[in-house]
Amino acid sequence: MTKTYDIAVIGAGVFGAWTAWHLARRGQRVVLLDSYGPANARSSSAGESRIIRMGYGADEIYTRWAQRAYTQWQDFFAAGQRSDLFHKTGVLWLAGKDGARVRDTAVVLARRGVRFEQFDLRTLEARYPQIGLDGIAGGLLEPDSGVLMARRAVAAVVEDAVRAGAEYRTVVVATPHGAGKIAAVVTSAGERIAAGEFVFACGAWLGKIFPDLLGGRIFPSRQEVFFFGIPPGDLRFSPPALPTFLFQEELSYGMPDLESRGLKIALDAHGECVEPDTQSRIVSLKSVEEIRAHVARRFPALGNAPIVETRVCQYENTSNGDFLIDQHSEMENVWFVGGGSGHGFKHGPAMGEYVAGRILDHTAGEERFSLATKDVVQRRAVY
Ligand SMILES: Cc1cc2nc3c(=O)[nH]c(=O)nc-3n(C[C@H](O)[C@H](O)[C@H](O)COP(=O)(O)OP(=O)(O)OC[C@H]3O[C@@H](n4cnc5c(N)ncnc54)[C@H](O)[C@@H]3O)c2cc1C
Repeated sequence: MTKTYDIAVIGAGVFGAWTAWHLARRGQRVVLLDSYGPANARSSSAGESRIIRMGYGADEIYTRWAQRAYTQWQDFFAAGQRSDLFHKTGVLWLAGKDGARVRDTAVVLARRGVRFEQFDLRTLEARYPQIGLDGIAGGLLEPDSGVLMARRAVAAVVEDAVRAGAEYRTVVVATPHGAGKIAAVVTSAGERIAAGEFVFACGAWLGKIFPDLLGGRIFPSRQEVFFFGIPPGDLRFSPPALPTFLFQEELSYGMPDLESRGLKIALDAHGECVEPDTQSRIVSLKSVEEIRAHVARRFPALGNAPIVETRVCQYENTSNGDFLIDQHSEMENVWFVGGGSGHGFKHGPAMGEYVAGRILDHTAGEERFSLATKDVVQRRAVY
């Protein structure tokens, strides 16, 4: 017999997990479905750690969302006694010749009442002697921002959504077809799952599931992450000595030695276009050489440090980096929730709340998140 739900959420990454959580808390009968499992190894939410920062240059909408999400993450961790899932390392922005993004960030943070400190080069040198500051002109520190322990945080959100009444199942959902309101989705095993609304929070898979509408509008890119081993007994790369860091001009970011995993570092530039089910999860030698050269420049004491762990993941980019949150243009009870574009994790709680509001309260959609604004040519504008 077909079981009927109010809402089926397809995809148990950070966006789907928080959407199910908010909907269940609002009394909806929710089923959360995923092909491989919550924050599984192939998903964008699978990393051990993700940065939560408030700064977004002049892009105030994401600062607002990050503030809202920060409060919800903190409330969630406090309620579940999961202080282990957040590290308040601080986030340090480092600007080179072109300091525009950091200057814009300072203006927006001040307007939004976010605490921050600004440093000239001399102060940076004194505070962070372990960082190679060649070419750096100044910095901005968000002392209250830090790192979410991503994979485990998603698992905790799903567990709590289930406690609130949601059902979680591992199934593969096929592309829905129809017009107007569809009654059900079908799994790869042929099972029908009926619901009033269907939220597809499928990350890099959105283009595969909806090839006609999204195939050319979601650009999955390969992203490689490295952990460098810290010299024995050396605390210069651990918090509080080293905060989470963002080098603006090199588009690199990373975080201090958390849970003794080593210094995490990665390049935020988009890698080659990949297929999330099958892409190789082994880093390339070229990337190893590139990141080694970067680490030697920015953290000279780690120039010969061993790489103790690597990860390969994918971003699910939209044309400019704005989220995609909209209804399907033909199936009116089918929703797209994605386009995290390498910066979405932190926003999970705010995303879930927004989607619940759109579906249950019929709140107006933000134009920037609409399908209509998603181009088929990439011009990245959100960082
Ligand atoms: C290396 C890296 C570093 C990042 N760093 C940061 C950071 O520091 N800060 C930050 O805020 N963000 C960061 N991000 C971005 C952030 O991780 C993503 O925006 C976010 O995780 C996207 O979550 P999602 O739920 O949309 O997608 P996903 O986590 O990919 O989840 C999608 C889910 O859908 C499921 N699915 C797909 N198809 C089907 C189907 N047919 N049936 C059932 N289930 C299906 C998949 O199995 C998957 O679990 C980073 C991303 C990467 C890759």
